[in-house]
Amino acid sequence: MHTDLIIIGAGPGGYETALEAAARGLSVTLVNGSRLGGTCLNEGCIPTKCMVKDAAVIDLCRNASEEFGIREVSYQIDFNRVIERRDKVVASLREGIDMMLRKAKVNLVEGKARFKDAHTVTVGEHEFDADNIIIATGSHSRSLPIPGADQEWVLDSTGILKLDYIPASLVVVGGGVIGLEFASVFASMGSQVTVVEYMKQILPPFDSDIAKRLKQSLSKRGINIITSAAVKKLEQDADYKIVTTYELKGKEESVVSDTVLMAVGRGANVEGLDLEKAGVEYSPKGIPVDEQMRTNVPHIYAVGDVNARMMLAHVASYQGLRALNAIQGREDGIRFDVVPSAVFINPECGMAGMTEEQCKAAGLEIMVGKSFFRANGKALAAGEPDGICKLIFAKESGEMVGAHIMGAEASLLAQQCADFITARRTRSEIRETIFGHPTLSEVILAAVEAAK
Ligand code: FAD
Ligand code: NAD
Repeated sequence: MHTDLIIIGAGPGGYETALEAAARGLSVTLVNGSRLGGTCLNEGCIPTKCMVKDAAVIDLCRNASEEFGIREVSYQIDFNRVIERRDKVVASLREGIDMMLRKAKVNLVEGKARFKDAHTVTVGEHEFDADNIIIATGSHSRSLPIPGADQEWVLDSTGILKLDYIPASLVVVGGGVIGLEFASVFASMGSQVTVVEYMKQILPPFDSDIAKRLKQSLSKRGINIITSAAVKKLEQDADYKIVTTYELKGKEESVVSDTVLMAVGRGANVEGLDLEKAGVEYSPKGIPVDEQMRTNVPHIYAVGDVNARMMLAHVASYQGLRALNAIQGREDGIRFDVVPSAVFINPECGMAGMTEEQCKAAGLEIMVGKSFFRANGKALAAGEPDGICKLIFAKESGEMVGAHIMGAEASLLAQQCADFITARRTRSEIRETIFGHPTLSEVILAAVEAAK
């Protein structure tokens, strides 16, 4: 069967691009090897954010009488209900995607795609060919080449979502985004959590001011965070407890827990596609692409986690849009240097644009402004005084180039800053924007005013 476009993979990179391509009048075949919505919907963004909300409700119940005028709050966590609610949300969104694809008359094919040649893919017995092909096969959890890491009792982010109980204790190997989101959720639910991170700071890509404060906040919540520690081995003892051994300052130490989560990054899904048959260059790190998301074969594109540029759901969708625009010869103004991102923990973190470290490395002279949630009326009224907003401006032009926020609704605030950065708004222009009162957005205004 021939269509204008074949897309391999129905995560946010694949299915959103298929819908847009169909809306623009292209005929589209979308091949998907597992459940619609990909990692994001089934094992990533959405199920974890359901649990983040459960955790926030539990935190509210726990703090209700200490912080607010509500006495004798008693609560019990029904983990089955947590799972039921999560699965219901995921299923309803999946149904929605299915409906939209059918309505758009996308030719949806279930199964694993393999290249036969540069214009043809096979799915089982069936063959499909197209003028252009977009690879959007996503990524999988990586592990460590250490003893014990391959045992079934070491969970990855998909495995931990299958737990039907709250572990009494949890060790998280890797203090990145996935590790910290699960650490925060299970700490709220009552697990004793330890995070072991290899680097000097948790959340390595985040601005170090935010990472430092976050470490303090998580430690205050009882999460044990060990940094600059290399995990050496994982063993199960006679009581089925897991012993995680790590090296810290030249000494071997260990921590014992019921459960271990391995969260040390993700690897691109490049295997099993027979990319050689299409002549597409790749490595275990991913498929290299240019700014149009084109591979070395001009009519074959790779978007989302599989090109390993930035493993975020919204990046996958916008890269798909860029590829589609390139196929149709359209220019666009999508700014991939201003991607807002967030870590959905308590307290939430959000960022957009450059970190102070990146500005320094690029030789950019900057002004920095900081403000604190403890001075913001809305944050105090909401009982959420823990937080910081750090904004970075280019000294010469005055334009905002980076925003780094920890605190209530940091994801929304980072999005607001992403708008300022994308529009190249200067410090004095933002100063002339009226911010409503009392709002959390006023932390942005306060940091703008403090910049020097
Ligand atoms: P995927 O969503 O992985 O989809 C790829 C699809 O391709 C899959 O369905 C796969 O089965 C299919 N496929 C693979 N090979 C083949 C083949 N040969 N033939 C046919 N189909 C194939 N990002 C955020 O922005 N915000 C978040 O809050 C967030 N939370 C996350 C939490 C967790 C626990 C995890 C693991 C990830 C999270 N992410 C988050 C990252 C986000 O899920 C990914 O960046 C996003 O899913 C990438 O989209 P994609 O379309 O590239 O790939
Ligand atoms: P990550 O790269 O964010 O973090 C992995 C962490 O593991 C790093 O801090 C790294 O230093 C550490 N590490 C590596 N080797 C180690 C070792 N031997 N011992 C201890 N620590 C070690 O990767 P991730 O957390 O697995 O997430 C994968 C991707 O998924 C990320 O790129 C992220 O963008 C995406 N994601 C995004 C969100 C979100 O947007 N909220 C949520 C979850 C995942």
